[in-house]
Amino acid sequence: MIKAENNASLLKRFNSYLDEQHMRHTPERDAIVRRVLNITGHFTIEQLKQMLDDDGFYVSKATIYNTVDLLMTLGILRRHCFEGLQAQYEKSNVPIHSHLICTKCGKVKEVRDNNFIAFMNTRKFTAFTQDYYSLCVYGVCNSCARKQKKKPKQLTP
Ligand SMILES: [Zn+2]
Ligand SMILES: [Zn+2]
Repeated sequence: MIKAENNASLLKRFNSYLDEQHMRHTPERDAIVRRVLNITGHFTIEQLKQMLDDDGFYVSKATIYNTVDLLMTLGILRRHCFEGLQAQYEKSNVPIHSHLICTKCGKVKEVRDNNFIAFMNTRKFTAFTQDYYSLCVYGVCNSCARKQKKKPKQLTP
């Protein structure tokens, strides 16, 4: 079974790491980590920058990239590279879920499949310890499917 840590524990891990590495607790790093921990769902670097701007923290993109990299190294964030889309990030302490990716509009939907989770919990891999997994299902979302159906009618007046 994979256990989830709470935000406070993730924040503690980040701060302890800065101490151990003799890195400074800058207001920028603090703002980024606190913002990230309050996001539910996925976000891109651009979206994170926008959220920080909205909060009144004007942090450079380089600082955001560096801090996000650090958060990934520490296992606080995970990066998803869905085919054809910008890298998306999400916290590591969210419940296990699968992703449905629309190949037309790029929308990503999260779904929980208890049968699949139960199956994965029984899986043992030779010479490998699983930390987490993420199933990606590529296809077409309902609204794109509807648009596709409508199109031929609009083309012929
Ligand atoms: Zn779509
Ligand atoms: Zn997700």
